Amino acid sequence: MAERNNVTILGAGPAGISAAIYLKRAGFHPLVFEKQKPGGLLKHAHLVENYPGFSYGITGLRLAERFVKHFHKMGVTTIPSEVHHVDYKNDAFIIRTEMETYLSTAIIIATGTHPKKIRINGASSLEGTQLFYEPYAIPHQVNTVKKRILVIGGGDIAFDYTLSLLDWSHKVTILCRSEPSCLPLLQKQALRKGAVFYSKCIAQKVQRNRKELFLQCRQGDQNMELSTDFILIACGRNPNISFLSPSLKKHFDDHANAGKTSLPGLCFAGDVMRGTYRQTAIAVGDGIFAGMMMQRYLKEKGDAS
Ligand SMILES: Cc1cc2nc3c(=O)[nH]c(=O)nc-3n(C[C@H](O)[C@H](O)[C@H](O)COP(=O)(O)OP(=O)(O)OC[C@H]3O[C@@H](n4cnc5c(N)ncnc54)[C@H](O)[C@@H]3O)c2cc1C
Repeated sequence: MAERNNVTILGAGPAGISAAIYLKRAGFHPLVFEKQKPGGLLKHAHLVENYPGFSYGITGLRLAERFVKHFHKMGVTTIPSEVHHVDYKNDAFIIRTEMETYLSTAIIIATGTHPKKIRINGASSLEGTQLFYEPYAIPHQVNTVKKRILVIGGGDIAFDYTLSLLDWSHKVTILCRSEPSCLPLLQKQALRKGAVFYSKCIAQKVQRNRKELFLQCRQGDQNMELSTDFILIACGRNPNISFLSPSLKKHFDDHANAGKTSLPGLCFAGDVMRGTYRQTAIAVGDGIFAGMMMQRYLKEKGDAS
């Protein structure tokens, strides 16, 4: 039978890291599962200008590195595995990775989000070679030649990714199906750095000819064709909760953005539960809130540290 831990955290992004630091300082020994490198999505933010304490801004990577350094200094136990399934039976959460099963009295789900897929005719066969959902997946470092990249999306993330791609010397065109919904500041910076922008433009079909991609779009009543080397899709993100059992998913649906659920010992923190309110400082606050709730719960249960 698997050994039982008192508190487990899924995800080591800003929310999971903050929960772990809080709990460790409170005398607990949280077990943290992380399927990639710790630091979360924050690692990919171009420049964070709204996290208190950094009046000149800080790159997402450097801020994430600071979080991770603090996390490691606290001596938190991390399991570098993806969690495939979580269920709740006989007063315990059952956590399954590919190889192992773990039991826990309390659990904090801080697994963030994954990119939404969009349907463009011909796109699926290009995924992973010339069509991507994350900019760091584009093979930019191996080839120093400037590439043309078409970014599809009009939110903060699409424009933030554009700024990173421009810094890596690519030529970027942004395609947005309506007017952009990003911060005006990001749009201004992207245009100033040379990005080309089309609004009210709907991508319809993509075709490959030799190494080039040809994207057919519709702008108002006009048809347009744009050629490019790569396409990056940034059209929103969905919560990472596919590993929850159907009964735990119901608790996710009922949590109403508060983190705490009607099942004692289960709570959510950060982007995974924040809808469109996804920011680092919110995730950090959620992580600490979740840590405090679980501390109280375990104390009441007599299962403290
Ligand atoms: C391009 C971009 C720019 C941004 N700019 C800013 C900004 O300027 N200011 C700001 O405040 N915020 C910004 N953000 C938002 C910020 O990055 C997020 O709000 C923050 O990272 C959310 O933290 P989190 O811990 O909730 O989730 P995440 O950072 O997404 O972390 C979740 C972690 O869980 C792990 N995980 C997921 N599923 C599993 C599983 N099944 N098993 C194990 N591990 C799992 C993931 O690998 C990940 O490490 C930006 C985001 C992006 C993408």
